[in-house]
Amino acid sequence: MNALRQALQDWYKDHQRDLPWRHTQDPYFIWLSEIILQQTRVDQGLPYYQRFTKTFPTVQDLANAAQQEVLNLWQGLGYYSRGRNLHATAQQLTLEHNGEFPKTYQDLLKLKGVGPYTAAAIASFAFNLPHAVVDGNVFRVLSRYFGVDLAINSPEGKRQFEALAGELLDQHNPALHNQAIMEFGALQCKPVSPNCAVCPVQESCMALLSNKVAQLPLKLKKVKVRKRFFVYHILANAQNELAFSKRGPKDIWEGLYEFPLTEFDTLDEMLAYLGGEQIIGERFQHVLTHQRIEAYFIKTTPKENFKSNYLMLDLKALTDHPIPRLIDKFLIAHSGELF
Ligand code: SF4
Repeated sequence: MNALRQALQDWYKDHQRDLPWRHTQDPYFIWLSEIILQQTRVDQGLPYYQRFTKTFPTVQDLANAAQQEVLNLWQGLGYYSRGRNLHATAQQLTLEHNGEFPKTYQDLLKLKGVGPYTAAAIASFAFNLPHAVVDGNVFRVLSRYFGVDLAINSPEGKRQFEALAGELLDQHNPALHNQAIMEFGALQCKPVSPNCAVCPVQESCMALLSNKVAQLPLKLKKVKVRKRFFVYHILANAQNELAFSKRGPKDIWEGLYEFPLTEFDTLDEMLAYLGGEQIIGERFQHVLTHQRIEAYFIKTTPKENFKSNYLMLDLKALTDHPIPRLIDKFLIAHSGELF
């Protein structure tokens, strides 16, 4: 344990990336970076972090913003529930904690959208408290180095990896230790083609010694992907405004704007419906974590009474209305063919 702990910190001192959230102990900035980087690569998340910290320099600024403004800044990151939680948590902090972050792991866990990983990250990076972070990078390093072949997404696997991470934690330097092991997983012990030939712990790595690097970590198979079939209607009025509606709760893209939608259960039903319709562009495919969407966009002649049901928007006004990435992709490719 001691040798690995020291090797990780030595490696980190030589190889760490210079990232803005590593220059602060402000829990607000650390929390922002952690929420933005969940399910997102660092190079993709970095400009979002810069935009959020510039637009909302304090947690109060974020709390006071309109939800739509927050979702507009979030646009393109996906997983919009994270954007909504971010805003709700800022309001919770302002109302219940006077804009201050709680200073213990247990109290951090009570914040909306903050799970064990994020609570440990804030507790260690902002307050140097001894809580081990366990993210995908940490699972991978631990699983390979110690040769643990329990599935990382099984309850027993999670429990054992958390215990192992806690044992390995440098109690005197938890912030540095947590940064080091995560960075080591991200850059050195990578998911595919880890650089074992130049790894500082190659001589004691169980996965390498037993030729199991490619098999570890183990993960149980994902849940079934739901297929959905969308036909979006492009409805324009005489002022060249298009009809939009806002998506409701309990489904993907809550609070985002989209064209009027007809959804089908099967591809065949959707294709039958499309016979004779004026299709704009190609069939679009959009993949989410547990869903795969096939979508067509068709030009639809408005019925006389349609106006009252929809929000009519000029395309320029769309900058104030967050839209799903799928609609964005369609507009980038075909905005010249809508009228
Ligand atoms: S030797 Fe390879 S698998 Fe083992 S810790 Fe190093 S990079 Fe990861």
